[in-house]
Amino acid sequence: MEEIYEVFALKYADRNGRIRGDSFIFDDDHSSPHPMDYFIWVIRNGARTIVIDTGYDGAEATRRDRPILREPVEVLRDFGIDAGEVDTVIITHLHYDHAGTLDRFPNAVFHLQASEMAFATGPCMCHGALQMPYTAEHICDMVRKVYSGKVVFHDGDGSVAPGVEVAAIGGHSRGLQSVRVKTARGWLVLASDAAHFYENYLAGKPFPIVENLEAMYQGFERIQELASAPELVIPGHDPLVCQMFPLIGAQGGAAIHRLDVAPIGDFAAAVERFRAAD
Ligand SMILES: [Zn+2]
Ligand SMILES: [Zn+2]
Repeated sequence: MEEIYEVFALKYADRNGRIRGDSFIFDDDHSSPHPMDYFIWVIRNGARTIVIDTGYDGAEATRRDRPILREPVEVLRDFGIDAGEVDTVIITHLHYDHAGTLDRFPNAVFHLQASEMAFATGPCMCHGALQMPYTAEHICDMVRKVYSGKVVFHDGDGSVAPGVEVAAIGGHSRGLQSVRVKTARGWLVLASDAAHFYENYLAGKPFPIVENLEAMYQGFERIQELASAPELVIPGHDPLVCQMFPLIGAQGGAAIHRLDVAPIGDFAAAVERFRAAD
């Protein structure tokens, strides 16, 4: 039987001291402010709860001097989800802001691209710019999950549950996967870092952390093809997501927004300026 899901973005951090040059390569305006939000996501129905990415915790925030508003597992708890009871987690890629706190999910099986694991443990990590977004301890935690039988590896596109698919995108990291989920409004795509911002894919402007530029451009096309409507593509770090979709809960600076419902306000007008810049 076909299953459909509700989809939620849980914002646990933001970083407001950034500029456009941090978000777009080859952009004429590189010095204007360009803030970024950090999310994990939850998809659920009566039968299943699936967590997508696990975020980074206070210790990592201190190490990187990138404060968080609230621990990701606390935001999950605000939402009524005990991380200790979660049985399925999809890790879109192993960057520090997506794959920390794995030990807080002792009963979960983790869905990961095999190529991401190879990338994060292989020779590319000898190079500073490629290694920078990864944290060795997070990768070691994932290796431990492999050894305890808690990782399901995908080699390309795959299925996680009825109505939940992973799409291998690459580009930003070697084994990046976006998540495609069936909702009452059609297929919704949680792009994660296949597109940090609406402007990345709508205006064809690559993000500066890139492993394969061609794959990143192909990903910009693919995430749009995989979604049933333009507003069903959800970029991974865009503060505009919080303006476009209704707030259903907030605590300690963190915020939960529902994504599988009609945008509030005029979505087309809000994003048209990016398309026009293409
Ligand atoms: Zn990333
Ligand atoms: Zn990210």
